[in-house]
Amino acid sequence: MTTLDDELSQVLGAKEAKALEASFGMRRVEDLVRAYPRRYDRRGALTDLARLQVGDHVTVQAEVVSFTSLKNKSKAGTRQEVIITDGTGKLTLIFFNQHWRVNELTEGARGLFSGQITVFNNKRQLAHPDYELLGATDQVDANDYVDEYLPVYAATAKVQSWTIAKCVAKVLASLEVTADPLPESLRKERHLIDLRDALQWIHKPSNDEQLEQARIRLKWDEALALQIVLAKQRHEERSWPAVPRVEKSDGLLAAFDASLPFTLTQGQQDVSATISAELAAGHPMHRLLQGEVGSGKTVLALRAMLTVVDSGGQAALLAPTEVLAAQHYRAITKLLGPLAERGKLGSHDEGTGVTLLTGSLNTASRRQALLDITTGQAGIVIGTHALLEDRVDFFDLGLVVIDEQHRFGVEQRATLVAKAGSDRRPHVLVMTATPIPRTVAMTAFGALDISTLKELPGGRSPITTHVVYAAEKPAHLDRAWQRAVEEVKNGHQVYVVVPRIASQEDKPADKNQRPAIALEDLAPALMEGPLKDVRVGIMHGGLSGADKDDVMRRFALGPSSPDGIDVMISTTVIEVGVDVPNATMMIIMDADRFGISQLHQLRGRVGRGSAPGLCLLVSEAGKFSSSRERLDAVASTTDGFKLAELDLEQRREGDILGRDQSGVRSSLHLVSVLKDEELLDEARREAEKIFDSDPHLEQHSALERAISSLVNNDRAEYVKKS
Ligand code: ADP
Ligand code: MG
Repeated sequence: MTTLDDELSQVLGAKEAKALEASFGMRRVEDLVRAYPRRYDRRGALTDLARLQVGDHVTVQAEVVSFTSLKNKSKAGTRQEVIITDGTGKLTLIFFNQHWRVNELTEGARGLFSGQITVFNNKRQLAHPDYELLGATDQVDANDYVDEYLPVYAATAKVQSWTIAKCVAKVLASLEVTADPLPESLRKERHLIDLRDALQWIHKPSNDEQLEQARIRLKWDEALALQIVLAKQRHEERSWPAVPRVEKSDGLLAAFDASLPFTLTQGQQDVSATISAELAAGHPMHRLLQGEVGSGKTVLALRAMLTVVDSGGQAALLAPTEVLAAQHYRAITKLLGPLAERGKLGSHDEGTGVTLLTGSLNTASRRQALLDITTGQAGIVIGTHALLEDRVDFFDLGLVVIDEQHRFGVEQRATLVAKAGSDRRPHVLVMTATPIPRTVAMTAFGALDISTLKELPGGRSPITTHVVYAAEKPAHLDRAWQRAVEEVKNGHQVYVVVPRIASQEDKPADKNQRPAIALEDLAPALMEGPLKDVRVGIMHGGLSGADKDDVMRRFALGPSSPDGIDVMISTTVIEVGVDVPNATMMIIMDADRFGISQLHQLRGRVGRGSAPGLCLLVSEAGKFSSSRERLDAVASTTDGFKLAELDLEQRREGDILGRDQSGVRSSLHLVSVLKDEELLDEARREAEKIFDSDPHLEQHSALERAISSLVNNDRAEYVKKS
């Protein structure tokens, strides 16, 4: 009898066990049987060869058409070209000095062929592939009646798909599952099959029905484990004490509200009410606030910060770049006006200090900033990663606001949160302008509650987007530069965005690909050419903090000021949060090199004021390029959620959750955070039920075991830290 906990080396040959560990890190039986097939080939149904991508390591089922032995032209020896087919498409196998294979690879022979697809003389080929012929004597065994489905596993050059299949078969033959991780009541209620059958059927189904049953059941394993981890995390976070921060009717917040030059939208008011209620509770708030660029998140964050300041605490706002931190500082001091000047003569009684801390401060300013943070003189602290340094020590950190949180990892969030002290937690508000579908957010950000601002504040102007296919219509690009000059003449600013700084930065992997347009090359060409009559500024990540600040400040001044900048040529450092309402036009060069969400973020920099915005996506993508679909999509809608979904569909699931956000993604093999929303919701309810009745999973030991093996170490770390 074999159990899930057995070492593979106890069940398989030493050589196989070693290979599985070396290639996939599999040690125990569970590791192997939980590595489900990637797809199934039907016995006799040949693989569609046309679909294979160059560079992929593939396993295909095909039939031999011909076998030819050729003499090498330039060197000694022979070469064997074997053509295989799926009935329509063809693929060439190449061997060297292996004429003897003529006896195996006879015309009409069928088999599985495995190797990496390469191109030679415009033909796709597999050079010295491994293969296993079907119907060969060693294949005929008692299991053959279920072999209508041939499982195809993610293979490597060292471990072939059929080797894995054989190992799995061997293990399954004696496998016994003693305890099922899914509680029996749950399985009964939802008609889920037991784990033993599910594993058998996912690897060796006899029919579609079995495969479907197995999938549903195994998805539940993943979804429930995930949701238990999240429930536990939520519970832990909620059990921490936090200082309640209650709104005061005569404090700084009240003074701020009275001075606000606009009324909050209904959406803003609702979210604000939710936030106040959570700040007033004795446990930390964990809220994700998402909303389109310009939807007015910053004002809400500021209201939350003022609530905390009113109660004697401090609030920290962490931004991903210096540009953004500096801009938040300017925007917040401006919104606060005299309220941001505590201690100064003639300032408001209820004022508070606002301090900016970034890496580029000089020594004296940094010392002052650190002092203000430590003494509590600074009620509001805005900064970059510099806030995370050890020597930053808060007097009483009550609220952490993280802007564009996808730019930060779990670690960084934890570092800032820990600055509130070892015996309590600050309230946490994270903000993002990149819309995230609900289930993704729930999975990636675990225990965060979510608020969404759907409407933009009134007075916003629509933004029009066009794609300029520069290779086909160069005149359209000329026209674009003229239009930029016209915008400046009308008193507005223009952004030009390029994918990179220097021409030598990186060489394209594909030799046929043109290198991306570089700021270094484009800027002088524009300044001597179409933009020679306007004032151009340059902005990129390589500039010092002071230079960046200077460019941003002068760009904000714009055409009406003698010191202003009219056109800013920039890399994507301006992608997030930059707010110059008077800018009306953006030209994005090599737009096909940016992702959908990124393009959407970028263009959110224009149309922020009362004049309509225009965004031109310039691309040299050819007629048949797949990037055209993306560009056209971005041009066709300004609905960020729609674009986010499109973007996610085009990416692989593994990328969706982001590298640093969560370790759970690696435990989701069958569950799709995009497509399995209903399942994830149901699993969440079940998980809460289980967790409420048995928080330490004492009655659910098999489930607990499954969780610890599904959840990887990163995740465990995260749970501890957050
Ligand atoms: P976000 O951070 O969501 O991108 P901001 O908070 O920066 O958006 O808001 C964009 C601009 O809109 C800012 O200049 C802000 O002062 C302004 N704003 C915010 N809320 C409103 C409102 N309710 N009415 C009018 N203007 C608003
Ligand atoms: Mg913002």
